Amino acid sequence: MRVLVIEDEPDLLRVLAQSLREAGYAVDVAAEGQDGLFKAQTAEYDAIILDLMLPKIDGLSVLQRLRRSKTTPVLILTARDAISDRVKGLDAGADDYLIKPFELAELLARLRALIRRAAGDAVSLIQLGDVTIDTLARTICMAGQLINLTPREYALVEFLSLHRGELVTRTMIYDHLFDDSDDSLSNLVDVHVANVRKKLGKDFITTRRGQGYLIHV
Ligand code: CA
Repeated sequence: MRVLVIEDEPDLLRVLAQSLREAGYAVDVAAEGQDGLFKAQTAEYDAIILDLMLPKIDGLSVLQRLRRSKTTPVLILTARDAISDRVKGLDAGADDYLIKPFELAELLARLRALIRRAAGDAVSLIQLGDVTIDTLARTICMAGQLINLTPREYALVEFLSLHRGELVTRTMIYDHLFDDSDDSLSNLVDVHVANVRKKLGKDFITTRRGQGYLIHV
C-alpha cells in the first residue's frame, strides 16, 4: 500500500514517514501544498495524510482541488482548537481526521480502516480458501500455520487480496507497492510472486500472461 504524507513540520514528517515505512507502507512525502497536490494528482495512492496548515496551498484547497479528479481516501491532521476546520475538511471530501497531537497507533489504525473501506472490506480478516490474511496484525496463516513472508511479499498478497477476483496489472502493483525512493527493477514483481507461490502454493496467484495477476475469490 502506498501512502502520501503532506506535512510541513519537518520533524513530524520524518517521524510519520519512518513509522509508516516500518508499518510496511511505501511512502512519499511533500513538505508543502503545491508539491503535495501535484503528487496526489499524478500518482496512485491508497491513502493521503494531509495537514491543513500548509505553505503555498493550504490543506483544504489541496483537498478541494484533488476531489475534482480523485477519490483517494484522505485523512486530515488538524490543530486541536480548529473545530470549524475539521467540519470544512470533512465537507470538502476528507474521509477522516485526527487532532494534533495524536498517537501514532491511532493514526495507523485509522489509516488501515480507510484503506479497507476503500477496498470494500469492513473487517480486517480476509479468508481465501485455507489462507487467512489479517490486515491488522499484517500476518498470513495457511491451514492455521503462520507463514513467514517479507514485508514486500505481505504487501503484494494484501494488495491482490483486497482486489480479489479482479485482474491486477503490473502497473497497479508498481503504483501501489513502491514509492519514489524504490529502484523499480523490471522483474522485481515476478520475483515476489514466485516467492509467494513457494510459500502459499503455486495456484494462490494466477498469472494472466502479458496482463497481470489475479487471486480468485
Ligand atoms: Ca502545518
